[in-house]
Amino acid sequence: MKIAINKAHFPVTVLGPGRRIGIWFQGCAIRCPGCVSQDTWTPRPDREISIAKLVSWCRETSRNALDGITLSGGEPFDQPKALSALLDALRQWNISDGLSMDILCYSGYSFNTLQQRHARLLKKLDALIPEPFVHTLPLTHLWRGSKNQPLLTLSPLGEERYAPYLEAKAEDFDKRIQIQVDGDRLWCIGIPGRDDMTRLEASVTARGIGFSEVSWR
Ligand code: SF4
Repeated sequence: MKIAINKAHFPVTVLGPGRRIGIWFQGCAIRCPGCVSQDTWTPRPDREISIAKLVSWCRETSRNALDGITLSGGEPFDQPKALSALLDALRQWNISDGLSMDILCYSGYSFNTLQQRHARLLKKLDALIPEPFVHTLPLTHLWRGSKNQPLLTLSPLGEERYAPYLEAKAEDFDKRIQIQVDGDRLWCIGIPGRDDMTRLEASVTARGIGFSEVSWR
């Protein structure tokens, strides 16, 4: 089974508790105005990788020193079969190596829609941040882009691990963005504040450096 991903990274420390593997899916049919990850929107068969290869990369890169996995996008639920197979493979790794990693998934679909269409997939997750990003609403809570997005726990592990963060305010946590350099690309991992990306671009441009392509417009 293959899955189309935009990127994967370890360690991610700004999208869920602890040190995590982040996997960003490629393809999103929702297209929220103001989305900062527009490079993930187009479905791209050239970004497909086998799930076995992806999980093997996860094992090798993290060396089992991780607290969880964060699935983001793109829209994970736009690839339901691949998402299901990935979740099964991650669970198998978790059990076979005696880990206690949790799985947090973002989705731009409403929780009601996910319950109606993907109830079986929800059972394989520990925590979920659903609902579309709404750029006209403020960023208020930790790990969430706009005020309408709840953090929901879906398993006993999720309950235990995420209970302290359900109502946590973003402003109470210093580190919200990680910068990762990959060749001539710069990745900003995390949830930027409103206008953070345009301010970053203006500041870099003022120093004589231009971005040839950006993901937020
Ligand atoms: S915020 Fe998420 S759901 Fe909305 S368009 Fe961007 S990737 Fe898709």
